[in-house]
Amino acid sequence: MVRNGTAAAAYSGQRFATYTVMVTGGARGIGEATARRFAAEGAAVLLADLNGEAAERTAASIREDGGRAEAVGCDVADRTAVDAAVGHAVAAFGGLDVLVNNAYSCSDHSEDFTEEPDENWLRDLDVTLTGAMRCSRAALPHLAAATGGRGAIVNIGSVNGMSYFGNHSYSAAKAGLISLTRTLAVHAAASGVRVNLVAPGTIRTPAWAGRESMLETAAGLYPLGRVGEPADIAAAVTFLASADASWITGVTLPVEGGILSANPGFTHALSAGTADDDEAP
Ligand code: NDP
Repeated sequence: MVRNGTAAAAYSGQRFATYTVMVTGGARGIGEATARRFAAEGAAVLLADLNGEAAERTAASIREDGGRAEAVGCDVADRTAVDAAVGHAVAAFGGLDVLVNNAYSCSDHSEDFTEEPDENWLRDLDVTLTGAMRCSRAALPHLAAATGGRGAIVNIGSVNGMSYFGNHSYSAAKAGLISLTRTLAVHAAASGVRVNLVAPGTIRTPAWAGRESMLETAAGLYPLGRVGEPADIAAAVTFLASADASWITGVTLPVEGGILSANPGFTHALSAGTADDDEAP
């Protein structure tokens, strides 16, 4: 039996013609860019977002550009809303091939960890981690039934789930998402569904509105000399959802300009310090 298509499937520029895709948090930022990329390559996309009106505006804009898109208001922390959103995709498009778990919650962390409120942890874990579980649970039967074994989940993680960058509860949720990705990859493999995770570094999205100077500072810390753009992540997500990735499942793909390979704080501290002798390595 052939599952997950074939490695010979060629890139045509319309890799997702006849695919149906649901993107949570798809109204703006990385979710919007990802939805636009899928639509540009032929997919019908459902934008499921807490802000239903913004999602509809984005969907309308995709349609104006010649794509196929619908929108639905959906809080991924609400099981009923999640089930309804997946049902909407299946009813509107006749099935569901790809789920992108992109919605998240990121609370400010307390400087003193002993002051960390339960509410932050519960909300960040509920939206970021359990939300992805809820959407995956609802979507999996449909992904398993997808034509030619094309079913796939792509989770949007973060470098915060892989190293220390602050935002404790968000980071814990993102680390949990890496584990969930492996769990689902093994669980869903028998039905031909692949599950992977893209871990972005700093990406210029509306989430950074009002903090643009931080983006400029961050750019200087990245080995590749810039922060990421939403299109950088959309390219990785669509690769992992495509037939080109038909033998890739359970992986975490960092898309982060090299920041996990660098240690700018350590390097800066050493270069700013006074050396005991010039021979130090
Ligand atoms: P944005 O804040 O720009 O957009 C997120 C979208 O998700 C918004 O439309 C938001 O709606 C919606 N949303 C929020 N909560 C929920 C919910 N409970 N249910 C459904 N939709 C919801 O985010 P980004 O594009 O910056 O980030 C997208 C993903 O990328 C996230 O998973 C994030 O963790 C990850 N990421 C981003 C990085 C960055 O630097 N931007 C770095 C690393 C990872 P509303 O506007 O109403 O809140």
